[in-house]
Amino acid sequence: MSQFTPTERTTVRRKPDRGTFDRKTVYDILDQAFVCHVGFVVDGMPFVVPTNYVRVGDKLFLHGSTASRLMKTLGSGAPFCLSVTLLDGIVFSPTATGHSVNYRSVVVMGKAEPIEDAAAKLAAMRDFVEYVLRGRWATVRPPSEQELKGTMVLAVPLVEASAKVRTGFAVDDNKEYESSAWTGVLPFKWTPGEPVRDPRGDAAIPVPANIQNYSRPQ
Ligand SMILES: Cc1cc2nc3c(=O)[nH]c(=O)nc-3n(C[C@H](O)[C@H](O)[C@H](O)COP(=O)(O)OP(=O)(O)OC[C@H]3O[C@@H](n4cnc5c(N)ncnc54)[C@H](O)[C@@H]3O)c2cc1C
Repeated sequence: MSQFTPTERTTVRRKPDRGTFDRKTVYDILDQAFVCHVGFVVDGMPFVVPTNYVRVGDKLFLHGSTASRLMKTLGSGAPFCLSVTLLDGIVFSPTATGHSVNYRSVVVMGKAEPIEDAAAKLAAMRDFVEYVLRGRWATVRPPSEQELKGTMVLAVPLVEASAKVRTGFAVDDNKEYESSAWTGVLPFKWTPGEPVRDPRGDAAIPVPANIQNYSRPQ
């Protein structure tokens, strides 16, 4: 299906013209970022916790220590909400309240399914590593049985999701532009810096081209 079906929870009510349920838009945003914030409730108290994810087809995988509250809560089948944001610019308006930001964001509602099968868990771990850097898995030591045991992997079917995208300048009335303030957009890009070699690593190993020229999505 090329579109997510809006539900009572995901229908974009505020500025609906910025909302989209286009699956490709949602996936493009997810694949460019790889940090999400997961909101969940424990004993009536909401927590919002940042973590990594990987998208594989129509699923996200989350992983973490079996001791983590986040993983234990989601693994128990508790409902949660996850969001991802890419900041594209700061919008300078002629008015105090007209300032804004350009962004691409995704909200996913869901329930997670724990991956118990050892082979499926290992495959998800490989997906995590490859999502960060294509080709990395073949160059590093795979997880030991013990490491896999201590790691919980959760699958999140992408069924209920929305995206919101803001582009462009301020939306103030023309008369506001008589102000003396500079107006416009300051674009923001998330760009990698220069790689820093770990002093414990072999100095003879050159920086791989795909780290030197890192880009997302991988
Ligand atoms: C970087 C950034 C900065 C923002 N700054 C502000 C701000 O300062 N003030 C402000 O009011 N709003 C801001 N927003 C927009 C904000 O995310 C909400 O869309 C807005 O506040 C409306 O919230 P609501 O709960 O009334 O949305 P509703 O329209 O009632 O939300 C209903 C459903 O729409 C979907 N939805 C809503 N917002 C988003 C979203 N951003 N991305 C994907 N799906 C979404 C969700 O599925 C949600 O459950 C910002 C967004 C981003 C990404």
